[in-house]
Amino acid sequence: MTTFSMTIDGKPVTGESRFPVINPATGQPFAEAPECSRAQLEDAMASADAAYKSWRRDEARRREVLVACADAIQARAGEIAPILTREQGKPLPRAMEELIGCAVWFRVTAGLQIPVEVLRDDAQGRIEVRRRPFGVVGAITPWNFPVLLAVWKIAPALLAGNTVVLKPSPFTPLATLKLGEVLRDVVPAGVLNVVSGGDALGGWITGHPAVRKISFTGSVATGKKVAAAAAPDLKRVTLELGGNDAAIVLDDADPKAVVPKLFWGAFANSGQVCSAIKRVYVPDALYEPIAQGLAELAKSVKVGDGLEAGVELGPVNNRPQFERVCELVDDARAHGGKILAGGAPKGGDGYFYQPTIVGGLSDGVRLVDEEQFGPALPILRYRELEDAVERANATHFGLSGSVWSADPERAAAVAGQLECGTAWVNQHMAILPNTPFGGAKWSGIGVENGPWGLLGFTEIQVVNVAKG
Ligand code: NAD
Repeated sequence: MTTFSMTIDGKPVTGESRFPVINPATGQPFAEAPECSRAQLEDAMASADAAYKSWRRDEARRREVLVACADAIQARAGEIAPILTREQGKPLPRAMEELIGCAVWFRVTAGLQIPVEVLRDDAQGRIEVRRRPFGVVGAITPWNFPVLLAVWKIAPALLAGNTVVLKPSPFTPLATLKLGEVLRDVVPAGVLNVVSGGDALGGWITGHPAVRKISFTGSVATGKKVAAAAAPDLKRVTLELGGNDAAIVLDDADPKAVVPKLFWGAFANSGQVCSAIKRVYVPDALYEPIAQGLAELAKSVKVGDGLEAGVELGPVNNRPQFERVCELVDDARAHGGKILAGGAPKGGDGYFYQPTIVGGLSDGVRLVDEEQFGPALPILRYRELEDAVERANATHFGLSGSVWSADPERAAAVAGQLECGTAWVNQHMAILPNTPFGGAKWSGIGVENGPWGLLGFTEIQVVNVAKG
């Protein structure tokens, strides 16, 4: 069985203890990851702290290192992608896209400016608003896009002058460990440490006194624990949490045009995307063609092992999540839900669930109110548009949403009424490296990406110079 190493102070560290990593397409372990001990985490923190002192001084060098990271990932994407598919489940071409996305994110971030604003500069004095790094950043990631979401943190944190201790999810540690290995040759020792372990390791990181900023992506429940752990030391936090995105179809939409986009907005990565469409509101007049169109597509896509050619959707990533999807669909059925496609596991080995479309539901059922994070989509009828908007907003979640119409301006006006971080029109999940992404309400605090995400890894320092 292949073993992978952590990266601590620029060196490979395997440790005494290891845990198995399961391939969700088979349900069987296929490799092992090191279980980071307390002492190893102390080493990682000490090296990050020590490296910070020189890393923060040379911005031009940091930019060069980020570009070198992009080059290194691009050169070795073909080596990392199959590991990502085997631990995460996504089809190999999608894994490759995730890796290329990492290179793009490093490159775009390398070109961002760390602003210095001059508020006053005259004979009496000069006032500058500068941006200082925090020091050591603790970065914690989930299992749906493990490498890309890690890079969303690493690239801006490093450009701003911080050093990083990164912990991937125990369900998908391997591609991230490999990323650490690839970047070992490029990033100075101690600047990027990658450690692996269970949820307890996450708690050790968020509680560690060396960490001055936590950048966390994961569920709302864990996000609240992270915020509580950050409070005693007043550590800064960015939280990218769960969502329950609504798509609202307006009465002038063309079902043929919107159905494929709605489908992939909901089912990409087998529905395991924070900002996937998780419920669709459809006016009575369009309900039949849209629900039927989605059901036909759901029945036609190829589900299977992501390493097989032509597979469009892989398995659910892990057993607890697979069981949760089963439970939510069974509950929807028990509450009057009409299964229009799927509705059951695919059978056989692995955590495969049939792409599922459920009609006949209203709000108040778990599949509609909770984040399913899997391949099961409820389609909900509405009569009045105001009612649909109100139902879309009647949730603690506020990550993103979308509005679909033949008239983009009309849809944009409705999009503005959605209580969420990103509101798309006639598209969903259009996430770009130069555009901020983050959640309203319980879906998060702060944003990632672009200049706004970069500033989240800095704090303001005013330098006020008296002259004469
Ligand atoms: P999770 O919250 O269970 O775990 C996320 C990470 O937190 C893992 O690395 C885990 O080991 C760690 N962790 C667990 N307990 C911890 C603790 N007490 N302290 C510190 N770290 C701890 O989430 P998940 O199941 O891995 O991911 C799915 C969730 O992530 C979904 O809700 C999804 O919507 C959300 N997500 C959000 C975004 C976003 O950008 N908003 C992106 C992707 C996923």
